[in-house]
Amino acid sequence: MPSVNENFLKLEKNYLFINIAKKVNAFKAANPEAKLIRMGIGDVTLPLAPVVVEAMKKGADEMGVKETFKGYEDSGAGYDFLRQAVSDYYKSFGADVAPEEIRINDGAKSDCGNIVDIFGDDNIILVTDPAYPVYVDSNKMSGRTIIYADSNEENGFAAMPDDSVHADIIYLCSPNNPTGSVYTTEQLKVWIDYAKKNNAVIIYDAAYEAFITDPDIPRSIFCIEGAKECAIEMCSLSKTAGFTGVRCGYTVVPEALKVTASDGTEVSIAQLWGRRQGSKFNGVSYPVQCAAAAVFTEEGQKQIHENISYYQENARIIAETMTKLGVKFTGGVNSPYIWFKCPGNMGSWEFFDLMLEKIAVVGTPGEGFGKNGEGWFRLTAFGDRDNTIEAMKRFEDLVSNM
Ligand code: PLP
Repeated sequence: MPSVNENFLKLEKNYLFINIAKKVNAFKAANPEAKLIRMGIGDVTLPLAPVVVEAMKKGADEMGVKETFKGYEDSGAGYDFLRQAVSDYYKSFGADVAPEEIRINDGAKSDCGNIVDIFGDDNIILVTDPAYPVYVDSNKMSGRTIIYADSNEENGFAAMPDDSVHADIIYLCSPNNPTGSVYTTEQLKVWIDYAKKNNAVIIYDAAYEAFITDPDIPRSIFCIEGAKECAIEMCSLSKTAGFTGVRCGYTVVPEALKVTASDGTEVSIAQLWGRRQGSKFNGVSYPVQCAAAAVFTEEGQKQIHENISYYQENARIIAETMTKLGVKFTGGVNSPYIWFKCPGNMGSWEFFDLMLEKIAVVGTPGEGFGKNGEGWFRLTAFGDRDNTIEAMKRFEDLVSNM
């Protein structure tokens, strides 16, 4: 009989969104007439940009013609045309990333979870709390020691390193899911200095970079000097261009990133990651890569930004309601998430139940993202405009009568 990886048995039994779905289904069964508004799961709702659809169709057509048909892609790292387009995109906001340093994937979640394969299980993992659950779960699955840096009201939900504590691998996410906070250049420089002092590697999740409007906020960790010697960056077209159902993202592993193995030899992280991917991943489909490349064209950028602006306006509407009601929050600017303190000092699941029962609005309890999320709550701006306005009216009624 095979033994199982018992670390899996230590994971939370129910994933956050399964708990939410159960409560929502029970509410719907008991209140079939209620007009439920979902502002919980961070999934997009607007359709793909027309240029993206066109490029995907064209790619599919090419697959149906002998002369242009494509099987496995040689490198598995992505077609040159897409890696070049991503590299040019990085250049447009001041990050120097070569096409060879970019690997195309089926979305950031896979790489965020899989990157742990190339690091030893004895590493100390530092995760900011609250955090996107993959960072914690993927390390718990291999039994690693996880320590936390607190993101809280005092530091504006932007955790900074504690020099007295050592870590080997550091997960940072900016703009942050769930808190909507962003790191400034100065703050990222502090993290880079900390990583270098500890010979640590930063895994930087930039899945929401396209929502940054403030020109002073870095869109990539590679906008900061010294990052290439200590950081890996994951990015995704899921939220940038509505690719949650298409699946495409990219990971940057700089050539300069080296780690010393136990026998003293210098190991290239890019080489290890390439080796891992070569064994376990066969690349992204050609039509999807064509669609992804269309995102980075001039017309593609124009079209995807129409959708992003729509979500940003939703975020502004939510943030405006919070401000009006005197509810403390982070995010809403440079981010599609609004992270607010539950009114009346309520617990986050308690507030979840109240919102569901009284105003039929679904959000995400902050507690599901870590201990510092207790008493906080996440709303997303990815919904429909009318629903967002309606939800905020109901929210205002609820909170002003509390
Ligand atoms: N990183 C963060 C912070 C996210 O919030 C998400 C999705 O919600 C992802 C990564 C993964 O996105 P995908 O796998 O769709 O690219």
